[in-house]
Parts: sequence; C-alpha cells; structure tokens
Amino acid sequence: MFEFLKHITPKTKILLLGFILILIPGAIISYLSLQSINQKAENLQTKYKGTVSLVRDKLESEVFKDEASLRNSVNESFPKPENNTDLKEWLRNIESENPAFKNLFLLKTDGGLLSSSVSLGWNNIAESFSLINPQATSNFNLAEKAEFISKDYVDAIMFYQKALIQTNSSSDHALILSRIGRCYFKNGKYKTGINIYKKILEEGNKETTIGKIPAPIIALSQITDGYKALKVEMEQYNASLELYQQLLDHPWDLEGGEYLYYLNFASTEIREYEVSNIYRNDHEENIDDLKIRGNRLLEQIRFIELINQNVLSEIKSKLRYGAPSELHSFNISPNEYNSKLQLSFFKLPAAFQQSELTALGFQFKKDYILLNLFPEILTSVELGKDIVVGILSNNDSLLYIQHNQALSNYLVAENFLQLFVNWKVALFDKDGKSIDQLVGNERQLYLMLFAGIIVVMLIGFVVMVRAVIHESEVSRMKSEFVSNVSHELKTPLALIRMFGETLDSGIVTDEKKRREFYSIIRKESERLTHLINNVLDFSKMDTGVKKYYFEEADLVEVVRSSLEAYKFHIRDNGFEIKMEFPDYPVILKIDKDAISQALLNLLSNAVKYSENRKLIQVQVHNNSASALISVTDNGVGITKEELKKIFDKFYRVPQTRGVQTRGSGLGLTLTKQIIEAHGGTIEVESEIGKGSTFTINIPFKL
Ligand code: ADP
Repeated sequence: MFEFLKHITPKTKILLLGFILILIPGAIISYLSLQSINQKAENLQTKYKGTVSLVRDKLESEVFKDEASLRNSVNESFPKPENNTDLKEWLRNIESENPAFKNLFLLKTDGGLLSSSVSLGWNNIAESFSLINPQATSNFNLAEKAEFISKDYVDAIMFYQKALIQTNSSSDHALILSRIGRCYFKNGKYKTGINIYKKILEEGNKETTIGKIPAPIIALSQITDGYKALKVEMEQYNASLELYQQLLDHPWDLEGGEYLYYLNFASTEIREYEVSNIYRNDHEENIDDLKIRGNRLLEQIRFIELINQNVLSEIKSKLRYGAPSELHSFNISPNEYNSKLQLSFFKLPAAFQQSELTALGFQFKKDYILLNLFPEILTSVELGKDIVVGILSNNDSLLYIQHNQALSNYLVAENFLQLFVNWKVALFDKDGKSIDQLVGNERQLYLMLFAGIIVVMLIGFVVMVRAVIHESEVSRMKSEFVSNVSHELKTPLALIRMFGETLDSGIVTDEKKRREFYSIIRKESERLTHLINNVLDFSKMDTGVKKYYFEEADLVEVVRSSLEAYKFHIRDNGFEIKMEFPDYPVILKIDKDAISQALLNLLSNAVKYSENRKLIQVQVHNNSASALISVTDNGVGITKEELKKIFDKFYRVPQTRGVQTRGSGLGLTLTKQIIEAHGGTIEVESEIGKGSTFTINIPFKL
C-alpha cells in the first residue's frame, strides 16, 4: 500500500511527518478549547448561583429587619387602650409607620380578632334594651301585642308612644321610635314613618344601639325602604348613600353577620342607581371615595374571616408553646387558585396580656415589597453593570425587574427560602442572554474553528498524498526516461560507428553498398539529432529559457518543406504519404523551426505506431479564425484512458499494442508546448486498431 513512499524524496518524507505532527496537536488543541468553553459555562453558572444566593439572602435579611422594627414599634407604642376604637386607631398608626405590612390584626385571649377596621368576636355589645320604668315596660308589651297579635297598628303606635314618654335611656328611646316607625310603615303611612326614623337620626348619638345594631343604621335602612315604597328615588338614593357612609365610618363587630348584611344592602342599593346612572353626577367624587374605602374594608373583612376559619387554631396552638416576640411565619392558600398568603405573627409580651391581647399578626404588602423595598435594597448591592436583578413568580412570570428592562431569559434563579417561598430571585444578563447563549457564540466559533482545522487538514493531507504519488510517478518516469534516452543514443551511435569503421577500413569496394552504408549513417545521425533536439528543447522549455522567433510565414510552405526533409525517412520505412494543401498561402505569425519540429514529432509517432497499414495523411486547411494541420495515421490507436496522459512529460504508453518502439516520452509534450506558445491547441481523435488523427489549431491572431 505504501509502495509509492519508496520513490519520494527524504524532503517530502519530512514534510509528511511534520504535517502529521501538526495535525495531531491541532486536533487536540481544538478539542481542549471546546472542553474549556463547557467548563466556562459551568464556572459562570457557579458564579452566578453564588451571587444570586447572596442577593436573595440580602433581600430576606432586610425584610427580616423590617419585621423586627415592626415588632419593636408594636412593643414600644402600646397605648393601654380604653376600647377597640383606640386599638383600631393604634393599629392604623403602626401600619402607616411600617409600609411593608398590611392587615395587622390582634388576637384576644378569648379568640376575638381585631384589625385596623373591623373586628370579629371582639366584644359583644350587651343587649341594650332595659326599660327600667315598669309602666313603660307594660305599655311596650301592650304595644307589641297590638302589633304582632291583633295587628292593630294604630293601637300599637299609641302604646309605643306612651312607653316613649315614660323612658329616658337614649337606646330605649331609639328602640321605641323604630317600633313606631315600623308600625306606620305596616299601616302604609310611609311619610310619617320616615319622619319618625329621622327623629332617631336627630336624637341618637353614635353609640346608641338597637339590639346589637347602631340605631342610625337601622333608621337609615328603614328610611331607604320607606322612600323606595314611596318611589321617591332621589331621596332613596341619598339615604342609602348615607347608610353606606355610616357603615364604613363605624363598622361594628362582624360576629352575627348583621354588619355584613347591612353593608351588602347599602352597596346593592347604590349599585342599582349606578346602573341607571341618574344621580351620579352630584355625588360622583364622594361615591368613588366611598367605593375605594368599601373595597378596602371588604378586603380586611375577608382577611379576618379567613384567619378566623383557617388559621386561628394553628396560631393558638403555636402560641401555647412559643416565647413572646418570637416570629412565626407560614404560608396559607385560601383556595387552590389563589396565590399563597404570607402570614406572620408573634406572641405579645406580658404587658399586653393584661389587656387580654395575646398575639399580633400581619401580612406582607407584596406590592410595596416588590416595587419599593426590594428596589431600594438592590441599589446598595453592587453586581456590575451587566447584571440585572429580577423577581419571578413560581411559574417564572416576571414580578419585578431592575430598571424596568424587558428581559425574558435569566441566567440563574433561586427560590426564596423563608419568607416569600413562592418567589424566586433571578439574575439577568443586561441583553437578556442565558448562560448558554453567553458562551454559545464562543462555542460556535471554536466549533467552526475546529471543523475548519479538520477540513483544512484533510484537504492538506489529500493534496500531500497526491503530490507524493505524483512525485513518485515522475521520479519513476524520469528513471525510465534516462534508460530510454541512453538506449536511444546508444543504438544510432553504435550503427554509425559500425558502418563508419567498415567504410574506413576500405573493405567495401562495391559502390552501391557504400552508398547504402552512407545512407544508414546519415539516417541514424538524423535520428540522433532529432532526439538531442527534443531533449535540449524540453530542458529549455522546462526551465523556461526556450525562446521563440515569430515571423510572418506561409504555413503551407513550412509544412511542405518539413515533409520534404522527412520524406525519405517515411518512404524508407515503406510509408505512403498523402498531402492535402490549399492552393493559396496561409500566412500567420509563427516560429517556423518550432512548428516544423512539432510536425516532425507527430510524423515520427505516426511512423512508429503503425503496423501494416502504412499510410499517413497530412492536411493543412483554415477557417476565418485559425489554421489547422492534421496528421492521420492508420496505426494502432490510443485508448481513452491513455489519451489523457500522452501529453504528460516522460509519459510513454508501455509497449504500445505489442509494437516495441523506442522513444523518450517527450515528443508530444514538446509538441503541445510549442503549439500553446503559439496560442493554439492540439487535439487527438483515435480508435484502437484503426488509427489516430492529431489536429493542431493555430489562431491567426497570436
Ligand atoms: P514517445 O513516442 O517518445 O514514446 P511521445 O510523447 O511522442 O513519446 O508519445 C507518448 C506516447 O503516446 C507514446 O508512447 C505512444 O504510446 C503514444 N502515441 C503517440 N503518438 C501515437 C500515434 N500516432 N499512434 C498511437 N500511439 C501514439
């Protein structure tokens, strides 16, 4: 397989070795670079993971600090309140001082809950109905009988009014007035009824209750109903609006559900008017304000009820064992579709427990934390200008990102550990690239480089091997050439010498014989000259020193005279020559000697490679662009394979079709080079066993 290596020079062998020596480390280096890119990606990952953990810890610890300061302000500012209105006020103050928290709530030892606006089971208002005066009581009872049993409302009103005069307590007053109003309504006297209820409003102070419900609330809701019955929409609307406002101003305990009932009643009333949109304009601003307050209140109500239903027992059990001021946090999901609520609470110190308060709980104000607190903390975190911090939700949607950049791919993300467990902190590249994308370009570059190196090396290797094979071929042909040429030189020299010596010795006396010997000497020396000319010309052309002398000449004339000189040789070998020339001169610029030499090479081949059919045709003709010379023989022909190579230097078809011929392998090479120096071409058509035609084409314009 490595036969060819025998013929190549040591220099080429060194080159080949060097090539392989470059190839191996080249491949190794490329592979290692790829490896190092992957390593780089991993390093980046580790680095960013570290950074993001630091950022997360920083954010968490700052929130913890806020929690601690909330706890402090709770502990320090406890006012020893008189009633729950004071407590609500106090909670409101703390909320406004600690903006990261909302829905602060107090838990009482008996399980009551109180937030800054509402309470649940906090303090039961005692039934306020007292009617100390016995006459008043008996009149009240008679009135109730008339109202409920005999349904005689006129009588009922009369007894109620008697009782009214006999009582002093404002609550009792309000209660009896509301009964009178109710009886007027039942009697269909709405206007009078409304006026009675208005009296409650005028008389009653805010604390007055009827049953557990503040008297103004009952009065206003009745007035609303009264106007509704009278179909005085404007008044009905005003009354319901006032009712709503009162409800918002003075919420009472949620237990029993009455408060929510009235709140719902008032807001539906208002909404009905809103749909018809008649009176909106007068109260527009007022209503919008009320609605905002209403929504806030509803949120707190929902929150307090949620605590009451879902987490109160858990808080209580934790409180049993927890130390005062110790923070407890947990996440609760009110329902599976809702995001989790982050809830924390701590046990209040002894001072509070004297007022029956055991714990204070709160919720994080996520909006504030995301949009105010975190951004502020992050301004003090130095991460370099290429890194942006963002907060993601569980499903990777962006909750907050620094500088409001719209980036989608993050580098790394880490979950919060303690507080906002369904949030993640993420680091973003400022151009929104992931780590893979960051190293991707480099990786691609290296991959391409790697592939490039491999391709170049493969091409180099193929070229090298071809060159080596070619070189070994050339060197083989060269050595063949040397043996051919020396043989070619030896034969004619031996003949010349033999016949020269014979003549010189004078033993040949026959004149005819002598002539024959002279002729042989001439022919052999001609052959020698031809051969030497070829070799010399070849070496000139090969080294680039061959000079051509172009002159205007008649091609027909040049061909004719070359044939004339070669005629003897052809005829001697028993060949017949057919010539076809135009009867006008074909003038072009040529080197006459060179063209004649080219023609002689073709003729000599025609002689050499013919066997039995000894006919050679030489044609000269022309077209507008060029002149053509063709030499046709009826010899052995050339195979298609060999046609490609016969013009190569030193190439000889080994043993042409059994014809053992002599030659140097230079004839056609020279012919081709000469013709090309004239700007022309040479073509062959050949058929095995039939013969070949070589056609030279020389353009008129050089
Ligand atoms: P040489 O004739 O000295 O071997 P050439 O360069 O003249 O070298 O020719 C190269 C080869 O081309 C020859 O060895 C021969 O096999 C083939 N060849 C050239 N001319 C002819 C021809 N007229 N007929 C058949 N074969 C030819």
